[in-house]
Amino acid sequence: MTHIPGIVITGASGRMGQMLIKTVTDSDQARLVGVIERKGHDWIGRDVGEAMGGATLGVTVTDDPLEAFAQAQAVIDFTAPEATLEFAALAAQARCVHVIGTTGMTDEQIAALEPASRHAVIVRAGNMSLGVNLLVQLTKKVAAALDEDFDIEVIEGHHHHKVDAPSGTALMLGEAAAEGRGVRLEDVSDRGRDGITGVRKRGDIGFHAIRGGDIVGEHDVLFAAPGERIVLRHLASDRAIFARGALKAALWGQGKAPGQYDMVDVLGL
Ligand code: NAD
Repeated sequence: MTHIPGIVITGASGRMGQMLIKTVTDSDQARLVGVIERKGHDWIGRDVGEAMGGATLGVTVTDDPLEAFAQAQAVIDFTAPEATLEFAALAAQARCVHVIGTTGMTDEQIAALEPASRHAVIVRAGNMSLGVNLLVQLTKKVAAALDEDFDIEVIEGHHHHKVDAPSGTALMLGEAAAEGRGVRLEDVSDRGRDGITGVRKRGDIGFHAIRGGDIVGEHDVLFAAPGERIVLRHLASDRAIFARGALKAALWGQGKAPGQYDMVDVLGL
């Protein structure tokens, strides 16, 4: 009997699902014990390694989450909000740690996770990258330490397929800066500039978006005062950072008391 936690990956064929399968199988701290896809998907019944175009992994893709969760200590879930809600109830039933990377959940959907979190550990974060979560904390601290002589600007860059701006992560950083300053972001947010804008308003937090090529995600938080500037920067070049963060969360959650946690808890920040 091994004490290495068994992990189930949901949304196996997705961009993050495949990255997670690779991350777990490459790790010596976790075992891949199950992979889930939605009903009717053509990967169901196939060995997941072969389905991914590589060597056999000895794990068959299934559409039966409960049976798979019963073999596992953690479920890592980057799928869609409705699927994640269903998985939360089943993971709680199996007493698995449920790591949720799925984004776009409504407030009602987030509230609906509460019953599951009474029985099992849930770790949920809109950005699982350890570096971005650290940057959020640093931004809050630096903003709290500096006064409004320092103008704060958040500059982000993403690939040309991205449809929204500012990025969710840029908004997380802006929220952190506002919290550090003790103000509400909606009162000080200044999104982009064009034309005769007038001088910069003291205390504003500015947002700027670059879109081009295959940039995975880049975020700068600039604190600019007369005579000096501080730049906090995160550069993502590989989606594996989200998978590594999720695996870390799955391992961290073992033996923790039931409840809802985020990456700030995982990192001890
Ligand atoms: P994707 O579309 O490539 O993959 C989603 C997968 O989920 C698909 O394979 C789909 O078939 C599967 N799925 C959907 N419903 C299912 C169900 N009921 N049962 C089983 N599988 C189901 O998307 P992606 O790029 O991998 O992203 C997935 C989610 O993760 C999105 O919400 C995305 O925003 C989020 N994401 C979060 C982070 C983070 O750090 N938190 C990072 C990257 C992506």
